[in-house]
Amino acid sequence: MAKLGPFFDRLDKKSFLLFHVWEFAYRSFFKEYARLFFLKAMLKHPLKTIKRLRGYQRFIKAQENLFSRYKKSLVVPDEEAFHNRTRELEERPLLGLGFCLKPYDPKDPSRSCPSGRANHDCLYLETGRTQNICLGCAIYRLAKEGMNSGWSVYIMTSAKDIATDFLLPQIESDKFPAAVLLLCPYSVQAILPSLFICGIDAYLAAYDSGYCKDYKEWRLADLGSKEDRTSLSGESMEKLLNLISRSYTFASSSRAFKRECNIFYPISLDKPSSRK
Ligand code: SF4
Repeated sequence: MAKLGPFFDRLDKKSFLLFHVWEFAYRSFFKEYARLFFLKAMLKHPLKTIKRLRGYQRFIKAQENLFSRYKKSLVVPDEEAFHNRTRELEERPLLGLGFCLKPYDPKDPSRSCPSGRANHDCLYLETGRTQNICLGCAIYRLAKEGMNSGWSVYIMTSAKDIATDFLLPQIESDKFPAAVLLLCPYSVQAILPSLFICGIDAYLAAYDSGYCKDYKEWRLADLGSKEDRTSLSGESMEKLLNLISRSYTFASSSRAFKRECNIFYPISLDKPSSRK
């Protein structure tokens, strides 16, 4: 069965039936995250799934240089629609950051994230406090900008958690209609159909280094084993900071995050009990 991988890879290269997820779908067939999404999103919402997958096919058809675009950024459905939708939202989009961005040195805890590696935790998001190591962490830099602009923040770990925390709440109750997600180029193509099925407009920024290059590496990271630390190019970081900061800003500058399940929501310190 493993020998069929190159065959499905070729189907991806030809965008067979205007799908670009054959190899990932084939390898994911019996995995828990795929079963969960298939049962609780696709089978539970068949009409939405069929209608929105047509949107996905139109998107794939309209893309030029899809492979090279996976390596940088993609906007779903397109940049103008994404910005219009985020302006209409009562709450800011979700900022999804990979756990692999955390500083990590297995031999030196002082050069590693104080909150641990493959988890949704972050000292800064939870308490507002930092250690020296946080100051060079992309999660700190982006989340700090996000806090000023009222974005919710989510540290992404496994595909199963992403489905449970983000995708399924969206298809069920429209909880996260727009998102900015930092992903490896391999994940960008894998997550696209799910974003369409769940009705999420998204800006997807691909990591520049340290990312998983194929399913084998992706699956290890999905199970929490990821030694390399990912990073964004300077250009991508500036673009993201710009995208976040030019969005709506809360009137009050006193801000913090409040954790609900695995998502950190911005709150005003004037009204600590409620989210705006
Ligand atoms: S900012 Fe958060 S994720 Fe980054 S090193 Fe500090 S505690 Fe870890």
